[in-house]
Amino acid sequence: MIEFKNVSLTYPNGVEALKNVDLKINKGEFVVVVGLSGAGKSTLIRSMNRIVTPTDGELLIEGQDILSLKNKKLRGLRKKIGMIFQDYNLVKRSTVIKNVLAGRLAYTSTIKSILNRFSKEDRKLAYESLQRLGIEDKIYIRADQLSGGQQQRVSIARVLSQKPNIILADEPVASLDPPTSHQVMKDLKKINREDHITTIVNLHFIDMAMEYADRIIGMRDGKVVFDGSAKNVTEAT
Ligand code: ADP
Ligand code: ADP
Repeated sequence: MIEFKNVSLTYPNGVEALKNVDLKINKGEFVVVVGLSGAGKSTLIRSMNRIVTPTDGELLIEGQDILSLKNKKLRGLRKKIGMIFQDYNLVKRSTVIKNVLAGRLAYTSTIKSILNRFSKEDRKLAYESLQRLGIEDKIYIRADQLSGGQQQRVSIARVLSQKPNIILADEPVASLDPPTSHQVMKDLKKINREDHITTIVNLHFIDMAMEYADRIIGMRDGKVVFDGSAKNVTEAT
């Protein structure tokens, strides 16, 4: 469902962040991308919803080459792709429920975004998403009053209420302590399994990748240098 065909990306400053990447990711897979800082992990993830645009090759999502998409179709694609970031990207002074409803905004019509009104259905889905992450009791708390782990769970709930086909998580646990990191990885895995959402997660640490990934992609210097199961990583190292 996601296919990179000989994809390269050179930034305007001349840095070649992706070099001839070939990859196929199937529906429902839980893929972890590992590699040192600067290896190209973020660029790989961000190219999948065209936050950055590859300079060469083809990038197919559900059969559609997203490199040629114009604005309207690109917005349509992005609605079905949930993004999770290292620093949560919440509206800090807004309540938890408002932050989660922002995910519905991405999904529902632009009229709503103008009126800033939400239907009962929107609210129900937002509440249910928070329930699934076990933080429904925080619904009226301001985002900046929550712990890091709770904020990341809110950001996952926001993505869930967007009803995505794909979740892209760029270093989602890099700001969290180890126990909280494991909890967040478990949450992501659970959602992946229950909703069959194709999930791609960037991680710094190989041990964490081995614990959760169906498949590990190793990157170095803009290239894919490893692609296999956790078991094969052990054998390769
Ligand atoms: P990683 O996520 O593995 O740390 P990145 O994809 O962030 O790797 O970066 C890959 C390379 O591209 C690095 O050399 C980085 O400095 C460079 N890079 C990342 N973003 C930009 C940008 N917006 N403009 C120019 N160079 C960038
Ligand atoms: P990462 O966690 O991906 O390694 P960085 O700390 O390297 O992120 O980069 C933070 C931000 O700066 C990102 O938005 C990245 O795209 C941008 N960036 C990284 N390297 C460069 C660069 N050489 N020139 C311009 N922007 C860059």
